[in-house]
Order: sequence, then C-alpha cells, then structure tokens
Amino acid sequence: MLTPICVPCRLQMVCTKNHFLVRDPEAAGFQSTYWLGDQWTCAQCGASVVAGFGRSFGPERLTPKDGEALEFRYELPTEDPSPLQHEEMH
Ligand SMILES: [Zn+2]
Repeated sequence: MLTPICVPCRLQMVCTKNHFLVRDPEAAGFQSTYWLGDQWTCAQCGASVVAGFGRSFGPERLTPKDGEALEFRYELPTEDPSPLQHEEMH
C-alpha cells in the first residue's frame, strides 16, 4: 500500500476514509464521472488528500446526496488564491 507522507510534518498520513467519492465534473463534452479513493489525513496539521483512484461509477448507477461527493476541479479559481501564496518564508 502506498502511504502518503506529509512534507511539512514529516509524518506518515493516516487513512481516515475508504471509498471516498470524488465527482469528476462534466468537461469538454465528457459526462461527469464518480471516482473512488482513500482519504489520508495528517494527524499533526490536519492536511488531507484523496489517493488511489481506480474504480469509477457511471452517474446512472449512483446518485450521491448533497455533500457526499467531493467536487474535483481542474484549476485554481482566480478569485481564491492558493494558500501557498500567503506562506511566509522563514
Ligand atoms: Zn502535516
């Protein structure tokens, strides 16, 4: 199993949820797709990632409730700058 490491904390992340649903939104004529992954969380700083995609569900087989699936996005929104841009160098 691949275990992510939190770079700032130098700790192995902990798997906090299996079958984490991510919605890949409709784009360029391709219909939206649901992907399953595992959520990993850093016990020290609380950062979390979803890794291990591999299975998908067609929208006709799955209708998640509101808030049940993470809406994946391809780009940073222009009105919401990355937190990294606010990080100060020490
Ligand atoms: Zn961390």
